[in-house]
Amino acid sequence: MTTPVYENFINGHFLKNQSGDTFAVKNPATDEVIYHVEIADEFIQNAAIESAKQGFAAWSAMTPIERSRILLKAVAILRERNDELAKVEVLDTGKPWQEAECVDVETGADVIEYFAGLAPAQVGQQQMVGNDFYYTRKEPLGICAGIGAWNYPLQIACWKSGPALAAGNAVIFKPSEETPLGAIKLAEIFIEAGVPAGVFNVVQGAAEVGQWLTANPNIEKVSFTGEVGTGKKVMASAAGSLKDVTMELGGKSPLLVFDDADVSQAVSAAMLGNFYTQGEICTNCTRIYVHKNVYQQFIDELKTRTEQNIIAGDPMDPEVNLGALISKKHQELVLGYIDKGIQEGATLLTGGKALSPASAPNGYFVEPTVFVDCKDDMTIVKEEIFGPVMSVLVFDDEDDVIQRANDTHLGLAAGVFTKDIQRAHRVIHQLQAGICWINSYGNSPAEMPVGGYKQSGIGRENGIETLDHYTQTKSIYVGMSNIESPF
Ligand code: NAD
Repeated sequence: MTTPVYENFINGHFLKNQSGDTFAVKNPATDEVIYHVEIADEFIQNAAIESAKQGFAAWSAMTPIERSRILLKAVAILRERNDELAKVEVLDTGKPWQEAECVDVETGADVIEYFAGLAPAQVGQQQMVGNDFYYTRKEPLGICAGIGAWNYPLQIACWKSGPALAAGNAVIFKPSEETPLGAIKLAEIFIEAGVPAGVFNVVQGAAEVGQWLTANPNIEKVSFTGEVGTGKKVMASAAGSLKDVTMELGGKSPLLVFDDADVSQAVSAAMLGNFYTQGEICTNCTRIYVHKNVYQQFIDELKTRTEQNIIAGDPMDPEVNLGALISKKHQELVLGYIDKGIQEGATLLTGGKALSPASAPNGYFVEPTVFVDCKDDMTIVKEEIFGPVMSVLVFDDEDDVIQRANDTHLGLAAGVFTKDIQRAHRVIHQLQAGICWINSYGNSPAEMPVGGYKQSGIGRENGIETLDHYTQTKSIYVGMSNIESPF
């Protein structure tokens, strides 16, 4: 059986590369190659820059209201095609249909809609300085690069292109080589909605194509989502031409469960924050600190619900709520962390092995895994695993647990469960994290800025402030009287 081959998407259409080089994409739930993708060679790279230059000229000349109207059409098409696009995401990522059907496309469309609405409201300033005055203009940056991770491919493409395009920039987007199709679908939708050719281009490939983007002097900004280590390389390379950067990186986020918390609600949050998208979410609360008075109750309920309520299998089955990990390599990495947890003395409460469900026997599944009796210095407590592996720790003092929660170089997210309103705010204000939840976990509406403290990131996505990250301010001083010159 022959599989489709997708070309790069440049200047409003598919463009064949000259090298003939391709890579294969597998369905993580079946281990089968589902399609091939052409790698962006030098010919494609040059074409992408030329295309984006032309796209930028046309797009930035339009008024914000015109851009907004076109982007809202794209939002409508995204929503109309929800099921078709959700299926692409399930086949590429291995995540459950029941998630993709109501989250991936929806949250991507929301963000484009949000920025399309904001764009016409972005204003400059004007101020009198004596008889003279100055005014400012919010101008787009030019060509922006987006580099995506594989866990929410279409959503990431939307979250990066939404504010970039709303502000009048052109984009060259490189999806993860594990999940390249969602961004192509988005590119087609933008064209169908009326976005001029060249405004949103998709180049395909792995690290080398990413490196080309980060080093290219025609590109003004890089918005990157991925691992901390890769983020450092991206930033170092971007420094060569002093590009603006947004970094959405990894985390090892704490959830603090106090003894006055609704324990069942806290268990729900812990399960969502470790097993949703089979644990492949950057903000996951992989360090759960539970007060000693409710520790036993918490882990008893957690064990029961994890063993009874999780259904792994063919991700397209709407009953399945635990999908396959992205690749065999990643499955092995996650299983390696589980072995390390056992070796270092953590107690396995449940899970711990690879899974081979009857409906998807060749998929890269890992059992939902919970470690208890964890210590702060264990590898599983310190390093991001990016799989369905939760570490539970015990505490009995508020100040002490805050200090332990903050004792990491990462700072993406954090959560607190307590019914004491003063404690909730007091504690959350002291946690060193950019995205925080009180009596909730994981919600990320378009309106709310998200991004990391410490080595979890730089800059923000979503929320009003993000539009500023895609514009630059031009100040214009206007003289109203004759110049007094000593010359
Ligand atoms: P990754 O860092 O391996 O790859 C991310 C992207 O960078 C891919 O497109 C890859 O091809 C590209 N890339 C690799 N090397 C590069 C280089 N030297 N220069 C330029 N580009 C390069 O990450 P991943 O495995 O795809 O994704 C998982 C990671 O992403 C996790 O650490 C997760 O926490 C993080 N993540 C963060 C967020 C967030 O918003 N903070 C969201 C999703 C995922």
